[in-house]
Amino acid sequence: IKKIAVMTSGGDSPGMNAAIRSVVRACAYYRTECVGIYRGYQGMIEGDMIPLTARSVNNIVHKGGTILKSARSKDFRTKEGRKKAYENLKENNIDALVVIGGDGSFTGGVVFNKEYNFPIIGIPGTIDNDIFGTTHTLGYDTALNTAVDAIDKIRDTASSHNRLFFVEVMGRDAGFIALNAGVGAGAEEILIPEEDLGLDRLLESLKKSRRAGKSSSIVVVSEGDKTGRNVFELADYVEENLEDYEVRVSVLGHMQRGGTPSCFDRVLASRMGVKAVELLIDGKTNLMVGLQNNEIQTIDLEKAIKGQNDINRELLRVSDIMTT
Ligand code: ATP
Repeated sequence: IKKIAVMTSGGDSPGMNAAIRSVVRACAYYRTECVGIYRGYQGMIEGDMIPLTARSVNNIVHKGGTILKSARSKDFRTKEGRKKAYENLKENNIDALVVIGGDGSFTGGVVFNKEYNFPIIGIPGTIDNDIFGTTHTLGYDTALNTAVDAIDKIRDTASSHNRLFFVEVMGRDAGFIALNAGVGAGAEEILIPEEDLGLDRLLESLKKSRRAGKSSSIVVVSEGDKTGRNVFELADYVEENLEDYEVRVSVLGHMQRGGTPSCFDRVLASRMGVKAVELLIDGKTNLMVGLQNNEIQTIDLEKAIKGQNDINRELLRVSDIMTT
């Protein structure tokens, strides 16, 4: 392996820059050339690339977003698109690729590897933490802290006005952000896709907390929750079915994807980037680097794509006990 390309693909997340920096510096350390590809697979098809040296990645470890930009590429889903991408890689003498992204990006990588036998290592970058084979994806910890910070602020106004707040957090079909931010911020109820508690149970719980003397409450709702109602409809339902409740809704949205990465995410990114480069230099391919028991481990990319991370049941129980 003489030249490694790195790119960010799919949804962005805090810590991607720290991972790019790590890949670039590890390449420099092992005297391997490194190239950055802009806008994920789309940039690969268009030949939008830049040589990166250890000094190209100064002052980015603390920055949110991704200096290489990210994109979704329809063209890469076609054979012709991938052929063009392969030709560009060959033309630039690139012989391996590090993809920082989510399961869609890994699927693209596996398809590409099958067609062209091109060495690929994945680094899981998404705030949703919905990738199998790692307890933490890059950006998840930062997003959690952002969400908790926002919910703390909402609590101040909720308690001043004795209001009930429904706060929607991101996570797509996974409830990791909701469950952890909910417990961390002391939410009254947490609605996640993995566990449909039902609306009756929600009403009951809110009534109970009122009886117990609580005058304001926060309900954290994951964007993918399975109540069959969106967060605004949920709030209406509760207002209609409970007496004397003033309900408000706050959707945190894309702020959760931005911001300065936490120290945890920066350290994780640094470790994953180094491991990705070392694997490629060792002749490995089709692996994702992940964190397990605080060690950097690897898992087959295809397993990472197909597997599903389970929610922490103990945390559900703790959450229940905390709302007593
Ligand atoms: P996130 O989950 O954070 O949004 P992601 O990596 O899952 O990130 P996707 O949009 O699903 O984001 O995938 C990123 C890109 O990977 C797609 O735009 C496409 O170019 C490529 N890709 C995904 N699936 C395939 C596939 N089956 N074949 C070829 N390319 C694919």
